Amino acid sequence: PHIIKNMIKRGMNVARLNMSHKSSDEDILQTIKTIREEASKLDTHVGILMDIAGPKIRVDLSNINDGEVEVIKNHVYSLGYSKMNDIPINMDIDFKKMNESNSFVKVDDGKISFKIISIANNILKVKALNNGLIISNKGINFPGVDLKIPSLTEMDKKNILLGLKLEIDWFALSFVRSHRDYNAFRKVYANQDISIPIIAKIEKPEAMDDLDAIIESFDGILIARGDLGVEMSLSKLPIIQKKIIKKCRTKSKPVIIATQILESMIHSSLPTRAEVNDVANAVYEQVDAVMLSGETAVGEYPIETIDMMNNIILNVEMEFDDYKIINESGNVKDTRYAIGEAVKTISRNLDIDSIVVMTESGSTAEVVSYFRPEANIYSLSPFLNVCNKMSLFWGVTSIKSEHYLSTDEMLISAEAILLEKKYMKKNQTFVMTAGIPVGISGSTNMLKIQKIS
Ligand code: PEP
Repeated sequence: PHIIKNMIKRGMNVARLNMSHKSSDEDILQTIKTIREEASKLDTHVGILMDIAGPKIRVDLSNINDGEVEVIKNHVYSLGYSKMNDIPINMDIDFKKMNESNSFVKVDDGKISFKIISIANNILKVKALNNGLIISNKGINFPGVDLKIPSLTEMDKKNILLGLKLEIDWFALSFVRSHRDYNAFRKVYANQDISIPIIAKIEKPEAMDDLDAIIESFDGILIARGDLGVEMSLSKLPIIQKKIIKKCRTKSKPVIIATQILESMIHSSLPTRAEVNDVANAVYEQVDAVMLSGETAVGEYPIETIDMMNNIILNVEMEFDDYKIINESGNVKDTRYAIGEAVKTISRNLDIDSIVVMTESGSTAEVVSYFRPEANIYSLSPFLNVCNKMSLFWGVTSIKSEHYLSTDEMLISAEAILLEKKYMKKNQTFVMTAGIPVGISGSTNMLKIQKIS
């Protein structure tokens, strides 16, 4: 709790729970409880993103060799589902579809590579291309191989239902290969009228071939650079990253980049210059969020890492005022987009200190955030789950409000909240968006400029 409290204080907006590393349902429940409690004590909102593992193939060394396999270059190993293999894995895979002559196996985000020398009875014989130590649960990739595996495992389905029960705020799905994976995910709770947003993790080459449709179907995108860098050419990663971010910005979908963000801070109190530049570059490329993994999950300096990342982001944003917005033709005809764009213009042209968004579902906050206005966005919703969800959107501070009956009541109350929380002072000006009649989702149609007297 102490570390989570300090992570929130230093700028953590969303906590990802990577279900690949789940030990028990109870563990997940306790972690969520701690995050919710610490956020509440700090009077803030932290979104919980449950990352569903998808069909990730992993080394399964439970009960074997102290959970480690030492790999020696040029030695040959067997790899398959049975525990009798030198490198047991967590799934029984029909490897017949592989082209043996040009197929590789990569373990632990590509740190250890093998060449496939033969295939028989769902078991591979592989030759090590370098030395290394494999520890249990590390991921395995078969780049270039079309593995005939489903989008969701039975464990994924159980975890999705657990996520619903624990009222998480966002889902992410790993190893998305097609926009149809969204429906496969939604089918797990087709009988329930629940609208938790689902993020597609882009880490397979097949996903790049269906990128436009995936961005349309899912509620956000996570560029999972770990697996992506193994499955596709590592040297092309910057081009792929830029392309995905640009498409998401064009289509107005939140985009997150992840993996090896400040990797060296797992063991060091300072990052490398290259890592600092990587975070800065993400801001220049207009991502909505930058996600840490090992740095905060197992690293020695979780608080310092968040502090560093927050400072880099804030420094770059202070300098950078060139958010070019590319509107897709459909967007401009939407009232919320027209208001979002107007809010940006007003916050630039007038002396505006803050933007206040009254929102039922969080969708207006998402649109206002999309335009990257030059003022803090305070987004008020009467629903706790909406407040938690909105914490992922760029520049948005979520505030839980009451249910209001009129716009006058809204304005008076918003002023009081902003003053009480010390977000604004007397004589400062804010621009507010809301929907009339109040209390109806998707009705945003009003804009008001208000000076606090
Ligand atoms: C990644 O591969 O970069 C990623 C974020 O996914 P995971 O942490 O599940 O490996």
